This record gives sequence, structure tokens and C-alpha cells, in this order.
Amino acid sequence: MFSYVVVQQAWTRSSGRCECARGNHQHPGRCNRLLIWERRTGESKPGAWVAESKSGQFRPDASDCEIVCWQCYTAGRA
Ligand SMILES: [Zn+2]
Ligand SMILES: [Zn+2]
Repeated sequence: MFSYVVVQQAWTRSSGRCECARGNHQHPGRCNRLLIWERRTGESKPGAWVAESKSGQFRPDASDCEIVCWQCYTAGRA
């Protein structure tokens, strides 16, 4: 898991919107779905999101942390 600080930095970078830009998803380019800070992890409510590790190793660095909406998270990686 990422630390609170790392997730907060990544969240600020994302402007509270999904950063997913995977080519095999329904959205063209970046998803940009509006997210809700309090709705982190696990639920399919509107605004739910997940802090994903780009490397899969959860490095303690915001550059490894990608803010993705629940829909993109469950749709999987490209
Ligand atoms: Zn998304
Ligand atoms: Zn996506």
C-alpha cells in the first residue's frame, strides 16, 4: 500500500480525476472521470477510485502512484 502522503500527492496531481489513459478502455485519451476523495477503494459507487501502482511494487513515490476510477480499475490494464 502507498502511504497517505504519496496518495495525497498523486491525488493533487490528478486534480481529483481519473488518470487512466489505457488504450483498450472505452474512454479516448485520458479518462478524467471526476472522483471523490472520501470514496477511495473497493466500491462501485460514483466517484470511487483506487491508487494503483504503475510498477506493481508500490514504490514510496507519487510517480509510481496512479489515481484511477473504479470502472477503469476493474476494466484492467492495457
Ligand atoms: Zn477512469
Ligand atoms: Zn481507463
